[in-house]
Amino acid sequence: MENKKCLLCKSEVITNFNIKEIFLNRIDAVLCNSCNSEFIDISQLNNVCSQCNKFKIEGICKECIDWNKTNPILINHSFYKYNNMLSEFFHIYKYLGDYRVRKILNEKIRLKTTKIFKQFDLVVPVPVSSKKRGFNQVKGIFGNSINDEYLSITKNFQMSKIDSDQRKNTEIKFEVLKDISGQKILLLDDVYTSGTTLHAVQDALLKAGAKYVESLTFAR
Ligand SMILES: [Zn+2]
Ligand SMILES: [Zn+2]
Repeated sequence: MENKKCLLCKSEVITNFNIKEIFLNRIDAVLCNSCNSEFIDISQLNNVCSQCNKFKIEGICKECIDWNKTNPILINHSFYKYNNMLSEFFHIYKYLGDYRVRKILNEKIRLKTTKIFKQFDLVVPVPVSSKKRGFNQVKGIFGNSINDEYLSITKNFQMSKIDSDQRKNTEIKFEVLKDISGQKILLLDDVYTSGTTLHAVQDALLKAGAKYVESLTFAR
C-alpha cells in the first residue's frame, strides 16, 4: 500500500493495488474518486444522439441532420462525455505531453477498444498537424500498436496574404498514403467537436476506395 497524489487535483489518494497491476507497471499515476467520477461513460446514458453520441438528444441531433445533407452518414462512437475535467486532462496530455496521463487514458479504454477494433479491418488515427514531442496524440490515447502511417495532413499556409474571414476557410487536406481499398475502417480521434475533421477524413478515405468508415473518439 502506498499513498499517491491525484494527478489532477493533487489530493492524497490511498491506493491498494494488486500485485498484477504493480507487476505490469500500469500504475504511474492515479486519479482520486472525485476526479474519476467525472469520467462519464456515454454507454450508460440513454439520451444521446444515435448517430454521433452527442449528449441530451433524443434521436438524431441537428448537427448530424445537417451533415447528412451534404456528406455520407458517419456513425460515431464515443466513450466519455466531454466536460471540464476531460478538457483539463487533454490539456495536460497534449501540451505538457505527460506520459502518465497517456497511461491513465490507455487503461480506461483498453477493454472497450479491444471489443470495437475487432469489428473493423483497419483502425486509423486522424493525423495531427504537429507531432509534439514526436508522438501522435491520438495514437497515444488509443495505444501504441496503432499504425499512424495511413494518412497525412496538408494545410494551405498562405495565411499572411489573406484576410481573417478567408483564414477560417484555410483548407486542410487529408491524403491517404497506403492502399485501403475495400477496407472497413474505424477512424480514431481524441474528441468529436464539430465533426469537421472526421467528416473530411471520412471523405478522403471513401474517395481512396474504403468500403465503409465509422469513427471512434475518446470524448464527445
Ligand atoms: Zn482528484
Ligand atoms: Zn448527432
